[in-house]
Amino acid sequence: MTSTSRGVQRTGASAGCLRVVLGDQLDREGAALRDIDIQNDVVLLAEVGSEASGSGAGIRSHQQRSAVFLAAMRHFAASLRGEGARVRYVTLEDRENTHSLTAEVRRACAALRPQRVIMTEAGEWRLRAEFEILAAELGQQGYPLEVREDTHFLVSHDDFATFARTRKSLQMEHFYRQVRRQHGILMQPDGTPEGGQWNLDHDNRRSFKQAPKVPPLPRIPRDDIIEEVCRLVQTHLPNHPGNLESWIWPVTRDQAQNALDDFIEHRLPLFGDFEDAMWGGEPFLYHSLLSVPLNLKLLNPLEVVERAVKAYRTGHAPLNAVEGFVRQIIGWREFIRGVYWHAGPAYRESNHLDAHGRLPDFFWSGEAPMACLREALAPVVAHGYSHHIPRLMVLANFCLIAGIEPRAVGDWFFEMYVDAIDWVTTPNTIGMALYADGGVVGSKPYAASGKYIQRMSNHCGNCAYAVTRRHGDGACPYNTFYWDFLLRHEARFARNSRMALVLRSLEKLGDSERQAIRQTATHYRETFGITPTETAFSA
Ligand code: SF4
Repeated sequence: MTSTSRGVQRTGASAGCLRVVLGDQLDREGAALRDIDIQNDVVLLAEVGSEASGSGAGIRSHQQRSAVFLAAMRHFAASLRGEGARVRYVTLEDRENTHSLTAEVRRACAALRPQRVIMTEAGEWRLRAEFEILAAELGQQGYPLEVREDTHFLVSHDDFATFARTRKSLQMEHFYRQVRRQHGILMQPDGTPEGGQWNLDHDNRRSFKQAPKVPPLPRIPRDDIIEEVCRLVQTHLPNHPGNLESWIWPVTRDQAQNALDDFIEHRLPLFGDFEDAMWGGEPFLYHSLLSVPLNLKLLNPLEVVERAVKAYRTGHAPLNAVEGFVRQIIGWREFIRGVYWHAGPAYRESNHLDAHGRLPDFFWSGEAPMACLREALAPVVAHGYSHHIPRLMVLANFCLIAGIEPRAVGDWFFEMYVDAIDWVTTPNTIGMALYADGGVVGSKPYAASGKYIQRMSNHCGNCAYAVTRRHGDGACPYNTFYWDFLLRHEARFARNSRMALVLRSLEKLGDSERQAIRQTATHYRETFGITPTETAFSA
């Protein structure tokens, strides 16, 4: 073995299999490692610039996102070495690092001459295509590449394809019920759902009357590995967004299990009631923040769900909290992954509403003029995180109703969130948040005015804009853009029966009010730097 890559152990021995582990596949029980021969196989992990700088497609990456991936990979490699495994670990600073995952596999094959190469399928179309090309090439060189399906997920590609084939439209609710039945999760012996209802969302819409008392997050110590990767990120990616002042993310299996324990014990009981609530200065509330360790594969979705169900069975947490949480994991998370692979690589380019606006600069700085946007952006800049309601109803809702180009929004979510992986981010933004897929994921757009934000938060009382106004000086931009959005798409939405009620409210607007809304919307688009925008505006 002649490689100079740091961490290759036992030089001189020839490899059995080369086991390739990507940065979001840090599962010792995962498909690529489940039958590892510890004595003879070599595990390859590579920190490559193309991925550290975000998706390998020229998109930047929040500093915390890069640091979390690097720290988790280094810890994973250390734990494998602790088992006695041979690990070829290529660091960001290795002089021979090609900064391409496929090139690093090629380089490892040339150095180690393995009998074959084994990996778990990549979690995005771009990498999948790159590895298909590599497989053909390595096959010719006598290194067959075996790509295994990712067994982390409950629903296989074949099972999702069967579900999609038998449905007129893809609806998460049907999918969720099927997964619950198949796995016997929160089910009664007679085959009915626990508590008699599949979905308890109607109990999960409380807001706070006063400042909530929120349990603190578990402390994650900044160990030597975390300090080292933060230094690397600051040195190599200084112009990437976000900062590294705080550290809240688990990067080892033990830390992830502690985070799960802490959530079940301290936050799950109130998670359901206040699932949709927001409060200034309290970005985490009763949310789990487990999407990061789940998407790194440090946690398994079934173990997470089993813990939550146990909390219900033992009387620790009520059904509305547990059902809502379980639905996020085995319903929504599995569903959007299925949609991602089912819809194909062109899905990310969808733009059903013909939106072409620019994303305002304050999405990166956090210095928005609206209180709700400032509150939603602050934890994104600081931690690469916000919970699902600021994501969907403040940030993405703004982009939807202001007419921002979906691809720009998708790239921003990918760039700014620590839990961003393409299979998560693309269907959530293109489908769920922006209705850019024309109804593949959601049957209608998730558009809301300032009234929703007023009902679910305390933001409007601290805002320079008036939530009571739709147009004119000081009007809430969410109100203006919401009504302008409905006016712009009135004809299109008339064909959607689920929009009928909303469109009826437009009938109450006279010509002069319609005109005033359009004028204020144009003014805000120019002020916030959104213009140029939807081509429909000129129609
Ligand atoms: Fe947001 Fe409008 Fe409320 Fe201001 S008034 S916080 S812009 S919803």
